[in-house]
Amino acid sequence: MTNVHILLGPPGSGKGTQAKRLVAKRSLIHLSTGDILRDAVSKGTEIGLRAKAIMANGKLVDDDTVNGLVFARLQNETGDVLFDGYPRTLQQAESLGKFLSDQGLDLGLVIDISVPEAVLEARVVDRMVCSNNNCGYIYHLVTCPPQVEGICDLCHYPLKHRADDCQEAFRSRMSEFYKTFEPLQAYYKGTDHYRAVDGQGSSDAIHQTILALFQEQA
Ligand code: AMP
Repeated sequence: MTNVHILLGPPGSGKGTQAKRLVAKRSLIHLSTGDILRDAVSKGTEIGLRAKAIMANGKLVDDDTVNGLVFARLQNETGDVLFDGYPRTLQQAESLGKFLSDQGLDLGLVIDISVPEAVLEARVVDRMVCSNNNCGYIYHLVTCPPQVEGICDLCHYPLKHRADDCQEAFRSRMSEFYKTFEPLQAYYKGTDHYRAVDGQGSSDAIHQTILALFQEQA
């Protein structure tokens, strides 16, 4: 039976980093809607062409488009899945719930990583990501710099800033995030699936906390 786990949290809370660390330890398939959409933008697909300006302005892509992309991917996956950046709205969460029950799939853990806003801005503005779509490793110029400036330690591709990591787009992403987050959080908070994690410690400490949650659940 496929289990679907969810990482919730604002931009810069460490969802992407923690997701990559977790899938390296547990056999999970990492599905980041941000990565799926960036891939569509870079390939110039119809969805990518529509999403490009929305993403660059830090706005949310519409629910039907994102749900469609996600459900198409879920239908083809046979292992346990870890979502990063999805669901982002109550409507997405409700549609996902319906899709899972229609398909006989189970919701696993919903891990909510929280970090104060001032810390998030500093993290995101100094974030660099590997330009190789198959790697996508995330660096931070202060807390987690690459060994060679501008080059990925793992695959040696050049690092780049994400188009939406500048201060202006970040602020827009934060205000979009808070518009939709409360009802989304409330939807999961009352359930047995929900776990809150303080995202302010070191990446290692947070990784250990999340791993322990998965071990408890197994
Ligand atoms: P992320 O990599 O998760 O920070 O996402 C980057 C951008 O992709 C967001 O600012 C949105 O424009 C878009 N995006 C990613 N996931 C979603 C989602 N679940 N719903 C709507 N838009 C999304």
